Amino acid sequence: FSGFILYSVFVGASLGSMPEIISQIQAMSGATDRLREIMGLPTEADGGQAVEHLGGALAFRDVHFHYPSRPDQAVLAGVDFEVAPGQRIALVGPSGAGKSTVFSLILGYYRPEQGQVLFDGRDAASLDLHALRKGIAVVPQEVMLFGGTILENIEYGKPGASRQEIIEAAKQANAHAFIEEREQGYETVVGPRGVKLSGGQRQRIAIARAILADPRVLLLDEATSALDAESERLVNEALERLMVGRTSLVIAHRLSTVRTADRILVLNQGKLVEQGSHDELMAHGGTYKVLVQTQLG
Ligand code: ATP
Repeated sequence: FSGFILYSVFVGASLGSMPEIISQIQAMSGATDRLREIMGLPTEADGGQAVEHLGGALAFRDVHFHYPSRPDQAVLAGVDFEVAPGQRIALVGPSGAGKSTVFSLILGYYRPEQGQVLFDGRDAASLDLHALRKGIAVVPQEVMLFGGTILENIEYGKPGASRQEIIEAAKQANAHAFIEEREQGYETVVGPRGVKLSGGQRQRIAIARAILADPRVLLLDEATSALDAESERLVNEALERLMVGRTSLVIAHRLSTVRTADRILVLNQGKLVEQGSHDELMAHGGTYKVLVQTQLG
């Protein structure tokens, strides 16, 4: 669905004229924010209590949630967890377990119908969403770049950043070398009508953008599609640098990722069924062990 909207916006598909398409998108509450999230871009939002600085502590307290369009389906049914500042958490579970929904609630696209999402002990419902989201960066599974130069795509993480800052972020993200290899360098136009970058290169642009944004909280949706070994090494190295000192939640699809997490949260049918380290959960012999054997292995 989201991909369809993106396609329509960028390609101007047969939905109607561009103003019609834009008004259709605006009519769908949260859709433009969702688009921005998919692209790993900051999002627009409303007012609320000011958030000067995020400490990086995050918690779900008895969170219950269903999507408005499906009132009969409980997607999260009493989820409780706490993450300390700087911790690295892997979120795993079968398809449909509610992992992406956890991200959507952290980003405030939806509110819990019961329970709370807390940042540094403060209920997210009372905080200024726009300011809150400035402290959170998302690296989505499939990175979409917008039509513009590579420089502009990275700068989006921190509007007004200097060229030097942008280049430094690209270096940290292992993106500088491939950018410099292009004839136009940082002025290379990418996006739907520009140069096509590989999946791994787009991920590294998104990582550079996140490094520049300097968030306290990181939400990473690990790519399921395999990259070639060298590209994967470069992406992983860049992600490691990005995660240092930040609270990170990773929807994990690889065993190597869960192994390096401080804690693994196992979601199944909207419930947190297990949590612990890889070794603890393997010894427990429950849902996690089955997941490792069937999906993560
Ligand atoms: P996957 O690993 O396949 O991405 P997930 O664990 O991230 O799955 P979610 O995407 O959070 O799971 O979905 C949880 C449930 O909510 C699923 O049953 C899904 O069909 C439903 N769902 C997700 N998004 C929406 C939506 N926008 N409207 C209605 N139902 C939705």
